[in-house]
Amino acid sequence: MKVISSICELRNCLSEERQNNKTIGFVPTMGALHDGHISLVKRCVEENDICVTSIFVNPTQFNNKQDLATYPRTPENDCALLKTAGCDYVFAPTEKEMYPEPDTRIFHLGPVAEVMEGVHRPGHFNGVAQIVSKLFDIIEPDKAYFGEKDFQQIAVIRVMVKELNLQTEIVSCPILREVNGLAMSSRNMRLTPEQHQKAPLIAHTLKESTTFVPEKNVQEVIDYVVNTINNEPVLQVEYFDIVDRNTLQSVKNWKETTDPVGCIAVFCGEVRLIDNITYKNKLS
Ligand code: AMP
Repeated sequence: MKVISSICELRNCLSEERQNNKTIGFVPTMGALHDGHISLVKRCVEENDICVTSIFVNPTQFNNKQDLATYPRTPENDCALLKTAGCDYVFAPTEKEMYPEPDTRIFHLGPVAEVMEGVHRPGHFNGVAQIVSKLFDIIEPDKAYFGEKDFQQIAVIRVMVKELNLQTEIVSCPILREVNGLAMSSRNMRLTPEQHQKAPLIAHTLKESTTFVPEKNVQEVIDYVVNTINNEPVLQVEYFDIVDRNTLQSVKNWKETTDPVGCIAVFCGEVRLIDNITYKNKLS
């Protein structure tokens, strides 16, 4: 496995791979890797001749300075995990390398970017589109792998790929969870032991809420989830919405969609956690 920080060097290596007719898969990450990331890398290794993983904490997608400053960084451990998973190239550039000039591009990401995370993290998705478009331009992957934990991000990336007429196939991968149900996240490292013990209530409540569908209406399910989680003093719901999987627009009635997804953001102390769950199998 090669660890590369220069765009030029990576381009040269990948152009040689391409000349040898190798297919290239790509997993973008911000590091502090866990089994959720590694599940994407393993799938990428399986489905492509060459697997490239990037590690870059992208400043333009952070709307909260404190979150950026405290974002966990574990580069040695990341490289060890990636090597074991069969990754071929790690791309770990500096901020200067990725942004020699400030990126002033504004992306038109449409209605999928204007709800939920788009409302609560202004500028976040534009920053995601800036970095992912740069990485796609450098790597030119045949396939790129994204986790469904960041459910809205996948929809936004698909819009960006269309807007830029890119040929990369976007592959979405299921959420990996800890044994207690908590969605794996680099930010879980920032939880105190007490917070870590309480945070699984988020996933537990989402799962429990599926058992009330379709008997309870959409608003009743939303109220149940928000109230149950907010009853735990350590947790504070920022938003919970039930949306159509494709449009990401709110659903008012189970009959409006065949594929409703509940999306949540919760503060556990200072740490912001997100998760989601499908209600599809309860409606068929
Ligand atoms: P991040 O490093 O948080 O930017 O995440 C990099 C990629 O890993 C994104 O596509 C995430 O959706 C994905 N990812 C993060 N956590 C998980 C998880 N628990 N299960 C599956 N994929 C994940």
